[in-house]
Amino acid sequence: MPAMTCDAVVVGAGPNGLVAANALADAGWDVVLVEAQDEVGGAVRSAESVEPGFVTDLFSAFFPLAAASPVIRDLHLEQHGLVWTHAPDVLAHALPDGRAAVLRRSAADTASGLEQHHAGDGEAWLRMVAGWDRIRDPLLDALFTPFPPVRSGARLLRRSGVAGTLDLTRLALLTVRRFGHEEFGSEEARVLLSGNAMHSDISPDSAGSALFGWLLVMLGQDVGFPVPEGGAGVLATALRRRAESLGVQVRCGVSVTEVLVESGRARGVRLADGTTVRARHAVLADVSAPSLYGGLVQPSHLPGRFLDDVRRFDWDDATLKVNWALDHPIPWSATGARGAGTVHLGVDDDGLVDVAADLSVGRMPRDPFILLGQMTTADATRSPEGTESVWAYTHLPRGLAGDEGAVARQVDRMEAAIEQVAPGFGSAVRARQVQSPGDLQDADASLSRGALNAGTAALHQQLVFRPTRGLGRPETPVPGLYLAGASAHPGGGVHGACGWNAAVAALRHRGPLGVVRRAMVRTAWSRVLRDPGA
Ligand SMILES: Cc1cc2nc3c(=O)[nH]c(=O)nc-3n(C[C@H](O)[C@H](O)[C@H](O)COP(=O)(O)OP(=O)(O)OC[C@H]3O[C@@H](n4cnc5c(N)ncnc54)[C@H](O)[C@@H]3O)c2cc1C
Repeated sequence: MPAMTCDAVVVGAGPNGLVAANALADAGWDVVLVEAQDEVGGAVRSAESVEPGFVTDLFSAFFPLAAASPVIRDLHLEQHGLVWTHAPDVLAHALPDGRAAVLRRSAADTASGLEQHHAGDGEAWLRMVAGWDRIRDPLLDALFTPFPPVRSGARLLRRSGVAGTLDLTRLALLTVRRFGHEEFGSEEARVLLSGNAMHSDISPDSAGSALFGWLLVMLGQDVGFPVPEGGAGVLATALRRRAESLGVQVRCGVSVTEVLVESGRARGVRLADGTTVRARHAVLADVSAPSLYGGLVQPSHLPGRFLDDVRRFDWDDATLKVNWALDHPIPWSATGARGAGTVHLGVDDDGLVDVAADLSVGRMPRDPFILLGQMTTADATRSPEGTESVWAYTHLPRGLAGDEGAVARQVDRMEAAIEQVAPGFGSAVRARQVQSPGDLQDADASLSRGALNAGTAALHQQLVFRPTRGLGRPETPVPGLYLAGASAHPGGGVHGACGWNAAVAALRHRGPLGVVRRAMVRTAWSRVLRDPGA
């Protein structure tokens, strides 16, 4: 079958694949980017799928990680059509009894709101923000660079000092329940932390949840939860335009079926239409770890111990999403929720623990935790004046993701929960679209049952344990093949770091010290995969 040849082929045009293609093209490489779907973006796409005139973000919608990511910032996507815009308030948690907690655009405004809930909480908030400001730059650099983050880690240590480093390490191990109770007197302040921790799949009662909650609220306070004007897809289109302006060839609508491994090295890919794309230097895979290892790469090319580790790969929970076109904005009882782009609802602070426990034992949560986006509030271009484009998602146990009856019942529960805190919501609905876990996966093969983090964010699958015990780096046991998707460190979210790290690793392996680097990686993998009994 006909073949084309390039320096590098990137499999998958999610944000990570698009960033990887840009980084390689910036270095002068000749790149082919292959995407199974008809358009680029992966879980960053939008469409008028509910009703004409209403733009719906089909997956991700709010982009604090992208706004804070040094990787995305340095691509200057504003030159390729990206304009960020914000809701009047960043986020609210609408509690079932009608109260609301609000994260506002300025720290002083958030603090004064929290102070009204409990004396001292405002000051505690400002202290937290001051601590964040001290370390945010080295911390973000450390999070978004390949493991180990030597330079940024050293800067972080210098900025934090001994006391600060101990505090940060404790925070990384703390549960968000404990952290919330240590810092704040009111449930409103605590639920801002715990609700944000639930953007990961870590239970509020598990180690690691405090770090997630803290990171997301602090990012929300720092850069907001911005959205691209016109729809999430504008972000992907800007990445595509930039890549194409540098000569990247984008092929949509055809899957990669195999990574070609010859003489122990990745040499290119085979496509579903039978053609091959040969790569002189590297293959970068923006796909999930389980679909790469033993899927696109035949098991015979992978060490047995590594395949055993891949079998232990731990997915995050399934996701169910519903999109609505509304005649008018949501009539929240708690006025605090009206101006927020993102609204959490369905359960209170204790209820979040119940939801996590249900998901853990495979039971459908009776009171689901709902993350909702008021998109016209965040970006007036999303629907006609006076209307609202809205979505909401919730998590399901993976075992129930394919049960149509259970999914339908959960959609009813989601609508009932919104109605409880916004009486009249139902009568505003003019059209609705349900994206079941299967629909999400059909639209993006990397979203297994709608899992949005490409594998659990729990501590046992972080750093050198992501995606399997190994290097915590994009290099795989197959030379020339790099894992560029969110299954790699630092994980899910639209920040581009997984793609960037993979591109940097591929470029360095062809750079002046490439021979040394390749030898070091080979040695590291052989040590990691050595049978301890041998
Ligand atoms: C419902 C939902 C809501 C989310 N909300 C947010 C949010 O608000 N903010 C945020 O920061 N993050 C959010 N996320 C997470 C974020 O979208 C993902 O972490 C991110 O998109 C991962 O990027 P990626 O490039 O690694 O993978 P993906 O975006 O999943 O892209 C992978 C691409 O690879 C393609 N592909 C897979 N297999 C093949 C193959 N064999 N051949 C060719 N192409 C292939 C897929 O079609 C897809 O286009 C959300 C995710 C979901 C599902």
